[in-house]
Amino acid sequence: MSVDAGSSLEARTKAQAFGLGFDLVGICALGPAETADAFDEWLARGYGGTMAYLPRGREKRRDSRLPVSGAVAAIVVAMNYGGREPAGSVARYARGEDYHDVVLGKLTELHRWLDAEVGRPLAGKAYVDTGPILERDLARRAGLGWFGKNTNLINPSLGSFFFLGALLLEIELAADAPFEADRCGSCTRCLDACPTEALVAPRVLDATRCISYLTIELKGEIPRELRGPIGDLIYGCDICQDVCPWNERFARELPEGSPYTAREALGSRDARAIARELIAMSDDEFGAAFAASPMKRAKLRGLKRNAAVVLGNVGAAEDVELLAHVRDEVSDELVREHAAWALERIRVRQAARERP
Ligand code: SF4
Ligand code: SF4
Repeated sequence: MSVDAGSSLEARTKAQAFGLGFDLVGICALGPAETADAFDEWLARGYGGTMAYLPRGREKRRDSRLPVSGAVAAIVVAMNYGGREPAGSVARYARGEDYHDVVLGKLTELHRWLDAEVGRPLAGKAYVDTGPILERDLARRAGLGWFGKNTNLINPSLGSFFFLGALLLEIELAADAPFEADRCGSCTRCLDACPTEALVAPRVLDATRCISYLTIELKGEIPRELRGPIGDLIYGCDICQDVCPWNERFARELPEGSPYTAREALGSRDARAIARELIAMSDDEFGAAFAASPMKRAKLRGLKRNAAVVLGNVGAAEDVELLAHVRDEVSDELVREHAAWALERIRVRQAARERP
């Protein structure tokens, strides 16, 4: 995009943001968060599960002027992570580099560029799921999209497979028009498709039932009744985004050289192959194969637990030896218990197949 030197600071800032690799950019004024009450009610209902960090910073979350002293405006950005990539056992967002590092790095570059543009260091701070900021709230106000019934922000020309980030700044900037429309209409595809019935109402997610929570945030045992519905998903879940007509139509490819391109350890291998490798992996191997990966959030023991569940769901006779070794020899009781569950599932499946 070419922007002449006489254009507004807002237009030049957006051109700079696009040049840095962001796919959407909008501006909004800071103030009371419109979704703060709904968020607090959601927490009060227990839908946040064990995510103890969520209630922190309640006052700051309720008013986006509070986290950064003197901040009055936000530049909100979105970065595509490749909704056209094939579905797989690892959610698309987690296959490549950690988006926190990538998006924060680019927002910091934008911040430094703005400092130079206005001729002084501007007070401000970038957020990418890294503080008490409701990024989706700011994104809607900055015109980037609406809240889908699957709880994701949806943009009419990009769908929902993107990361959000916000740069809060002390300078006044002309705001974009908020996105007021609800373009879900009568569609309920996401609610109907969720394998664990985690979307308990339009725009209400019971995270304690959501596969993304169960395979990433939950540190302990996965409830037995939810292990089967997890199917072959090892880390995260894209189902309620995959079925969305806005993604079917507008999700984009990953650009050449994108940091979100799947790492070699995931490649194009199927769920069973990835699960077998993870469950047998040492700490050193994990550190080497998953350097700078968002999957480190679940830690290796969480991934081994998930791998056992997946092998229980899609594994075969050839996996029995490996699972038995894990059940009998591994010191971590969490992983052992899930391996035992998987063995029983495979046994029951085999018995059913052999029945005349
Ligand atoms: S991410 Fe998966 S489990 Fe979670 S609400 Fe969407 S479809 Fe359901
Ligand atoms: S699947 Fe349908 S209801 Fe769900 S977010 Fe997309 S458009 Fe909205």
